[in-house]
Formats: sequence, structure tokens, C-alpha cells
Amino acid sequence: MSRAALIQSVIGLGPAWEARPGWFEQHPAALSRQAEAPADVDLAPVEPPAPPRTDIVVQPEPTTLVAAQPSAKLPPLSAEPPPIASPAPEVLPLLEWDALERAVRDCRDCRLCQTRTQTVFGRGNRQARWLLIGEAPGEQEDRQGQPFVGRAGQLLDNMLTATGLDRDRDVYIANVLKCRPPGNRNPGGDEIAACQSYLIQQIRHIQPTLILALGRFAAQTLLQTEKGIGQLRGKLHSYQDIPLIVSYHPAYLLRNQPDKLKAWQDLVFAKKTFGRLSAD
Ligand code: SF4
Repeated sequence: MSRAALIQSVIGLGPAWEARPGWFEQHPAALSRQAEAPADVDLAPVEPPAPPRTDIVVQPEPTTLVAAQPSAKLPPLSAEPPPIASPAPEVLPLLEWDALERAVRDCRDCRLCQTRTQTVFGRGNRQARWLLIGEAPGEQEDRQGQPFVGRAGQLLDNMLTATGLDRDRDVYIANVLKCRPPGNRNPGGDEIAACQSYLIQQIRHIQPTLILALGRFAAQTLLQTEKGIGQLRGKLHSYQDIPLIVSYHPAYLLRNQPDKLKAWQDLVFAKKTFGRLSAD
């Protein structure tokens, strides 16, 4: 089995992820992963390059930042109403990280405090250069107090590993909402508005090089747009002057296997973009 096929098998992508010989191994993300791969990953020798194929759709290279958020505090509201009617959040003075965690833990600023088991602040390295932002805690996250656990979390971890990223060392993961919407319903605009200040403060603390918005709600909330994932992915956006890339939420990928290939392309794009940003 080729190295690409092995990694695809590990992250549960199946035959749809089979890349042509040589393409996977020669990609900058794959070369980077070779240097960073954990000891238990079997790295086969790099296969010789294959001639170009025309049956694989490659995401276009971004050339510009699509949307800049000039405000240091709040993303501006567009002329068109955003998909989630979020009143401008009141951004508190920047709290120390520990105080911010306590503030979230004790927060009762929206109705979700009545149904949560516990708040879910985030996980990972506070000095990480990558910030991954999802939607809201689900049932497992609500129980365990950690974002992206369960099957969706396992898929995300596997995809990060395949990209050469360690979930504890290289990334910080947070959600737009810190409390679970009952029944995993969609977040309400008032709930997002009430909670947004916490995420903004997390971003100000971490100051990541790159944000990866996972899923429609995270992307639409951060970019203040009604556009769907299909229109937003494959481009380089920005949030408060921080480069931002959009991809699918892992929970969505569990239900829509064919889109895992697109999610992989997003990660490769993000890794490439991160490398370029880090070199600047
Ligand atoms: S979702 Fe956010 S604003 Fe609402 S109670 Fe939880 S921490 Fe507070």
C-alpha cells in the first residue's frame, strides 16, 4: 500500500482518497509531514512522479485576501443582513487567560446556561500558530468539557496528523459557542452575539498565524456573510487581519463521505498557505 493510501486508510477516507502515484508524496504538505511524522506512521519511500492527470479538480491558488475585517474589536456588519442576526457584541477589556476561562465557566449570559452540563472553553496550545474554530459543543463535548471529541474529533485528529499537525502542540481548537445548544440544534443569533466576546478574546490572546473555520456557522459568523461553504472554501479570507481559510465541519464529513476529499484539499491548501505566511 502506498504511503498516501495508508494515511487515507488511517483517517477513514477509503478509495475516494486514492491519489495518483507521486502526487501525494511530492506535495509540500506531504514532504513536511515526512519530517514531522510520528514514529508509529509507516513512511514508504517516495514514489516517482506521475504525469499530470486531468480528472482531479484542484482548488485554485488564492491570490488576494478576500475580506478584511478592519475593526480590532468587531467585524463590521454588511449592508445585507447577516445570516445570523447577531447584534454587535460588547467586547470586554481583555481578561487574563485564566480569568477568561473562569468567566466562561460561570457565564449565564444566554439561555444555553440552563441546559448545558458544562462549558467547553477550548483545547490545545495557547501559543499555537493554528486556530481551529468550530460551531458549538455537541453531546460528547458537553459531557467531557472538551471540543471535538467523539467520532468527529477523532476524524479531525486523524486529518491533522495526516497533515503533519499535532493537535496538542500545533493547534488550538475552540468553538463559536461555549455551551451546547439542546438537541444539537443550530445556534441562535442572540446566543452567538452573547458568546462572541469570549471567542474574540481567545483570538486576541492566541494571535494565530492562520484561522481554520470549520463549518458553515463558524465561517458565516467570523466572516459576517451569508455565503455557503462551497463559495467560501478554496479562498484566503481574513478575520481582523488574520488570514482565515474555510473548510467543512468534521461532523458534517462523517455524514457526507465524498466531501472528505474536499476537506483534505482544504487542509493541504491551509498547510501551504501557512508555510508561505510563516516565511514572510
Ligand atoms: S453559550 Fe456563551 S454566552 Fe451563552 S451561557 Fe454559554 S458561555 Fe455564556
